[in-house]
Amino acid sequence: LQHKVEHQQALNVVGQMAASIAHEIRNPLTSLKGFTELLKLNADEESRMYLSVIDSELQRMEQILSELLVLSKPTSMKVELLDLDNIVKQVIEFMLPDALMKNIMIQYISSTNQAAYIGGNENRLKQVFMNLIKNAMESMNNGGTITIEMNVIDCTMVELMIKDEGNGMDSSTLQNLFQPFYTTKSTGTGLGLAFVKKVIEEHEGLIGVNSELQKGTCFHLQFPIYTFNQMDAVDVSSKDSAYLV
Ligand code: ADP
Ligand code: MG
Repeated sequence: LQHKVEHQQALNVVGQMAASIAHEIRNPLTSLKGFTELLKLNADEESRMYLSVIDSELQRMEQILSELLVLSKPTSMKVELLDLDNIVKQVIEFMLPDALMKNIMIQYISSTNQAAYIGGNENRLKQVFMNLIKNAMESMNNGGTITIEMNVIDCTMVELMIKDEGNGMDSSTLQNLFQPFYTTKSTGTGLGLAFVKKVIEEHEGLIGVNSELQKGTCFHLQFPIYTFNQMDAVDVSSKDSAYLV
């Protein structure tokens, strides 16, 4: 038991360190982004090209920091009533250009004829869907189709499936994929799915995965649906009463 307690304490220290480093790096990063914008104003074509690379690398750094921050300590988040269908469509639109460059189609099937509202944080949920679609794209080196499907189950839960035709996962990857820093990629961080799991738990949702080597992978997510009543819509802070049981 003593050993276990010490291990937990060591993890907490690492978590606190990660959080404070991530936080400290954020400020200089913000100023780098600001000055990059300023440089763009008078840049010639060649410099603009370099600046846009700097831009996207800075964005990647910011991404990693925000995932580290969410993973390393309890964080607060603003919760709103969100139309899941709308959020998914926005994310697909954002990812589509990258997908098409890799010969990948993204197909979206929504079998619900009414909007499914869930209580959640828009930015974190978008990040979750982006991470899953990005992993799907990274598993499909020869192109193919990513299918995203939304279904309402019993009027109480909404299910989202993200299915790819990629290289799938072996059993040791399936056992470890949600562990922070677990990656099988040479340039991966291993933070993507750990972040996904944490955010889905924060949303009282569920996540599951099926995968077959050389065939593909399917992630299933479920979120509780909010009852949508015009009166409650204004105030979503009274979270418990808004659930349909
Ligand atoms: P990263 O993408 O940085 O490696 P993630 O946490 O996003 O980290 O994923 C962890 C690992 O899970 C990946 O390295 C990969 O081995 C596996 N994985 C995740 N999604 C898929 C997928 N759709 N198809 C195949 N393998 C996947
Ligand atoms: Mg990833």
